[in-house]
Amino acid sequence: MWYRVVAMAHVQRLADDLFLIDTRYNETPQAIGVFLLTGARPALIETGPGARVHTVLEGIRRAGLDPAALQAVAVTHIHLDHAAATGELLRRFPHLEVYVHPVGAPHLADPDRLLASARRLYGDALERLFGQVIPVPADRLRTLADGARVRLGDRTLTALDTPGHARHHLVYHDEASGDMFTGDAAGVALPGARYVRPPTPPPEIDLPAWDATIARLRALRPRRLLLTHFGPHEWADDLLVQLRDRLHALAGVVERALAEGLDEDAVVARVQGWLLDDIRAHHGAEAAGRFEVIMSTRLSVLGLIRYVRRG
Ligand SMILES: [Zn+2]
Repeated sequence: MWYRVVAMAHVQRLADDLFLIDTRYNETPQAIGVFLLTGARPALIETGPGARVHTVLEGIRRAGLDPAALQAVAVTHIHLDHAAATGELLRRFPHLEVYVHPVGAPHLADPDRLLASARRLYGDALERLFGQVIPVPADRLRTLADGARVRLGDRTLTALDTPGHARHHLVYHDEASGDMFTGDAAGVALPGARYVRPPTPPPEIDLPAWDATIARLRALRPRRLLLTHFGPHEWADDLLVQLRDRLHALAGVVERALAEGLDEDAVVARVQGWLLDDIRAHHGAEAAGRFEVIMSTRLSVLGLIRYVRRG
C-alpha cells in the first residue's frame, strides 16, 4: 500500500508547546495521533492503542521531554484507539493523573466489559491492534463534568460533554488559542483534503445528540480542530457542517436499505459502495484504504444499523 512507504514525520510541532505524535497504528501513518502539551504540567491528550505505547514514548523524547516528566493524561473517550494505553502508562508512571468523562471512568478502572464488547467487533485481531489493556488504578482517575477546567501543559482547557459518537465523550477546548481537541466528535479527516468521514461504530451512535454537539462546537468558533484521526484542521466550520450533512446522508442510506428489508450484510455492502464512491469523489481512491484502517466501513455501518433500529 502506498502509505506504508511514504516517509512522514513521527512527531509534528503544532505550536511552541504542542506536538502531535503519530502512533503508527497498524503500521499506518496518520491514523491515530496522540497530542503532547509541554510546559509547567506536561500532559498527553489521548494515549493511543497499548500496542503503540513505545512509539508514543519515543515521540515524547523526540519532542525533547523525558516521559517520566509527564504529569497528566486526558482522554476524550475510552474507545481502545484513544485510551487503551492509559493503564500501561500508569504502570510505568504511577503518579499520572487521568482525566476522563464520568461515564467512561469505571471502564478504565475495570476494562473487562469494554474488552468484551471490543472483542465482538475486532475478534482475534484485538491484541495485535490494541495490545494488552491494563486497568487504571481508580485513585488516579479524575472525572470532568461539562464545563470543568483542567490545567494541561501551560494551557487551561475546558472539558465539553459532547455525546453523539459515544455517550461518554469529552472535547477539550482551549479558548485562549482557539485550539479544540475533538477526539471523534468532529469525525475523521486526513491531512491535505477537505473531506470528513463520520466514525459511527456500535453501540452508542446518537444522531440528535451528535447534531447538538456539532452545533455547540460551531458556536464556540474554534480556530483549529485537532483530530485524533488525524491532526490539525483549520477549515473548522466547513468540516463540522460537512460532518453533520454526511452523517445524515449515511444514516438515510442505511434507513432506506433497512426499510427495503435488506439483511445486515446487504446493508453493509450497499453502504460500503456509497461510502467508497463518496470518498473517491471527494478525496481520491488512495484515501479509502487509510479510512478503512482507522474505522472499517463495516463497523461504521453496523453502528448506524443499531442506531436506526433503536428508533
Ligand atoms: Zn471512538
